[in-house]
Amino acid sequence: MKNVKYIIIVVAILLVIIPLSILKGLEYKKEKIKEEANIVNEIKSHYGKYVKVDENAILYNKNDEEVGKVTKDVILKLDEINIDVNTKYFYIPELESYIKYENVSPSEEYKKDDRFKNYIYFNNNIKTNDVTNFYDKYGNHLYTLNKSFDFKVLVKDTDRYGVVFNDELVYIKNDDVKEIYENINTDENGRTSIKTLLYHFLYNPAVQSCNEIICQPLSQFESHLKYLRENDYFTLKLDELEMYLDGKIQIPQKSIVLTIDDGTIFNLDAIGLLEKYECNATLFAITRWVNPAEFDSPYLDLESHTDNMHNQYECKGYGSQGGGILCLPEDKVLNDLKTSQEKLGGSKYFAYPFFDYNDRAISLLKKAGFTMAFIGQADTDGYSFPNKTDKFKVRRTTMFSSTTMDEFISYLK
Ligand SMILES: [Zn+2]
Repeated sequence: MKNVKYIIIVVAILLVIIPLSILKGLEYKKEKIKEEANIVNEIKSHYGKYVKVDENAILYNKNDEEVGKVTKDVILKLDEINIDVNTKYFYIPELESYIKYENVSPSEEYKKDDRFKNYIYFNNNIKTNDVTNFYDKYGNHLYTLNKSFDFKVLVKDTDRYGVVFNDELVYIKNDDVKEIYENINTDENGRTSIKTLLYHFLYNPAVQSCNEIICQPLSQFESHLKYLRENDYFTLKLDELEMYLDGKIQIPQKSIVLTIDDGTIFNLDAIGLLEKYECNATLFAITRWVNPAEFDSPYLDLESHTDNMHNQYECKGYGSQGGGILCLPEDKVLNDLKTSQEKLGGSKYFAYPFFDYNDRAISLLKKAGFTMAFIGQADTDGYSFPNKTDKFKVRRTTMFSSTTMDEFISYLK
């Protein structure tokens, strides 16, 4: 009897314990699945086709060995991946290396600047040191890769070379270059000079009147842009013109620079035309008379035409029309230039009102931080030359309402 009682107790206990432990086991498994799901979600939250580096981070090869470094805020394109609980790294095909998933966060697609695709390679290559540092055009460090590269030279800057890596223009400092050698990268002959065209008043005859010889109806402006687009012309921005004049880049035969002065008679539809035909131009704006914000477009850069020194005969007896920059007190000139630069959010390039300049004007421009200045009148041929042209006397060819299409085409030579 005692045994029977004992057995009953044991069976009863087992009947309670076994289901309980099964339940517990199930719960444990459930929790584990939940935990793993959390981990996978956490890893997934770091993944994107494009990611931004959160802090300076290390790059690895597939054996977990360090192969380089990448700087905070750099945007990387990732390989597609099946993320599971064991995922530790994301793969960056362009750098042929891995980064820890916790070092990155998803980012918007990075818009690459591809203007460099218009430049012509130099017939030079560089070989880099066994550790190579890459920088962007502003000099920000992007990444370091622990190996040597051989690159075609696209930009020869003062203390660095511009090269194409992963379809992007990046820079290698001279310190990281162990050898530069001749190599035939192109048979294309770059231009040996460049012409800059000058427009003034772009108006719509249906709603505006404009009766000076420097007035151009939008239809005339459009016919020029259409010609440039249809014939694959490269319209340089002024920083590119400056690089070209400094001998830092080579440009194709079909290249031209478009500038517009004043902005006082400027039908804003002209911007739409620049965008439609994907032509870049620069407007030298008189900032006291026009509001720079109205001209916002990726195809139109604004630079200084003074803030309020575009008044005839302020300097009587000086220059052609006595522009204020020729004689006004130095501090007044510098203040005016500074004001225009501030209103433009910075400006390094300048056009002399009435094309009036003298040595003092040039030295004041340099003092104010300008690096290039434009003249231009009917009798100049508008050409400038690498390493020869005085960058404070860049010539331009003025366009007139009487300029014919044939004349325009002849200016492109
Ligand atoms: Zn002007």
